[in-house]
Formats: sequence, structure tokens, C-alpha cells
Amino acid sequence: SVLVAGSANLDYVVRAERIPGPGETVLGRDFRTFPGGKGANQAVAAARAGAAPTRMLLALGDDALAVPVEASLRAAGVELDIRRQHAHATGVAFICLSDGAENAITVAPGANTALVADDLPDLAGVDTLLLQLETPLDAVAAWAARAREAGVRVALNAAPARALPEALLRNVDVLIVNEGELAMIDGQAGDLIGALQRLPVPVAVVTLGAAGCIAREGTQLHLQPAFPVAAVDTTAAGDTFCGVLVAALAQGEALPAAMRAAAAASALACTALGAQSSVPAHADVETLLLG
Ligand code: ADP
Repeated sequence: SVLVAGSANLDYVVRAERIPGPGETVLGRDFRTFPGGKGANQAVAAARAGAAPTRMLLALGDDALAVPVEASLRAAGVELDIRRQHAHATGVAFICLSDGAENAITVAPGANTALVADDLPDLAGVDTLLLQLETPLDAVAAWAARAREAGVRVALNAAPARALPEALLRNVDVLIVNEGELAMIDGQAGDLIGALQRLPVPVAVVTLGAAGCIAREGTQLHLQPAFPVAAVDTTAAGDTFCGVLVAALAQGEALPAAMRAAAAASALACTALGAQSSVPAHADVETLLLG
């Protein structure tokens, strides 16, 4: 099975002609809430990919915000290990989405900040542990170390961007980053391929937005173009990519096939509004892959 340990939020989304600059007010249009959070989005994507069972460790507040967040995960078939936090609100994200499909996001992580090393459930039967950086870094590092010890594959989506301690990277089997995150980890200006080769992990995948993705597996490089779509909201494209990639790897797919499935699913995720609500059904991904 796939175990995701990570964040869950409720996203507050306003669409506007453009994203406001500092000190500026723009009049937006429709307002909606969507279940989000990188961890929860990736868990939904892994579950919808029809992989092995997907479980998630998450923290929620004891509040009404938690209700749609929990319901969305359960509807996707994710088994939940919830750590209920009475001293924190459920995490929220304020998202401004422009007509050009750009977004600007502020996260109030709330309950997600209360997850600790000891919260990780028993790893029996877990093939892959999927982590992100929206939960405390010391907990993430401890979870990776425990999984490594238990012989469980560790996949890390190092988002949001930050420098990573060597103690964490050492326990990562599959690192998934976008270009900005790669630059933060590498710490050197310059070439993508050089940075990809310097990463001290066996498998590294770099997503390149509409340009697709590139991976290094040992010394071998794999390229996967994006599937062309008319993007309306790229929120959770990266999360869909991570969840589907890991689900495919957990099912025994080779990396190039997993990248192709992840590229197809994340392209479809760009064509619908929201985070978990934009993660495509497995059948639609199959249709795109066969087409
Ligand atoms: P993030 O949102 O985390 O920065 P990217 O923008 O690199 O991640 O997108 C992740 C993946 O989503 C890409 O590798 C690609 O497969 C897919 N994707 C993103 N934007 C588009 C797009 N405009 N058209 C098609 N696929 C896209």
C-alpha cells in the first residue's frame, strides 16, 4: 500500500482577472472552497490511480473546517489516520486564481504544524511512504528514517521550496521537485541537468510545468513531455503528478511508464478547478494514455 503522511487544508479560492500586487485590491468574482493541502491532494491522486490501498496520516482541528476535508479523502477511498488537534484550527489556504491560470497562495497551516515523529502509524504492509514539506521538518525527517529502517521506499515531494538537511535527503529513494524547489536544494545557480546529477538520491524527478518532466534514475535520464491541454487551473497539478507517480511505482511500474501516467493525470488536473476536485478519474487518464 501507499502511505501518505502530510498536510490537509481547506482551500478558499477567489477567481480574479489578475493576482493583486502588494498593497493592491482587485475585485474578484466567484468564491468557492475546495479540500486541498499537498498531502491530502497526493493521497487522493494515489487512491484514484487505482493503486494498492492508500492510507493517510493527517492532523485536523476539532472544527467545522475539518468536515469537508475528511469527507473528500474518504470519498476517494483513502483510509485515514487522523490526529485530532484541539489547540489548532484545521489548516486553510487562501488562493487567488487569475484568468491566466496563475495562482498566489497563502497557507495558515494550523493543525498540520502539530504532527510529530511519533504520529507515524505502523508500517507493516506499506510499500511506499510519500512525504511533502507542509508538515514539520523534524517529523518528516523522522518518518523518512523510520521508513528507511523498515525497508519501505521513501518518496519526498520537497514542496514548498526550502533547503533540505542532508540527514533527510539521505533517507529519500525518490525525490520529486519542480525547478524552483530543485534550485533551493541544489543551492547553485545554473543548469538543470547538473543539479539533477548532483542530487544525492537514487531517483530524482523534476517537473517542468507545460514542458513536462525529466528524471534521473542512477545515471540514466528519462524525458516525458507534457500532454497538451487548455489549462484553467494548475492548482494540484504537481500533487496529482506525485500521487500518480508513486502509485504507479508501488504497483511495480518502471519509472518511464510511471512518469507517463503522472504526466497524463496532471495534465487533466489542469483542466478543472480546485485541488482534489480536479484529480482525474483513472478511466479518463487511461483514455488519454491510449489516445
Ligand atoms: P508545480 O505545480 O508543483 O510547480 P509543475 O508546474 O511542474 O508543478 O507541474 C507538474 C506537472 O503537471 C508537469 O510535469 C506536467 O506534467 C503537468 N502540467 C503542469 N502544467 C501543465 C500544462 N499547462 N499543460 C499540461 N501539463 C501540465
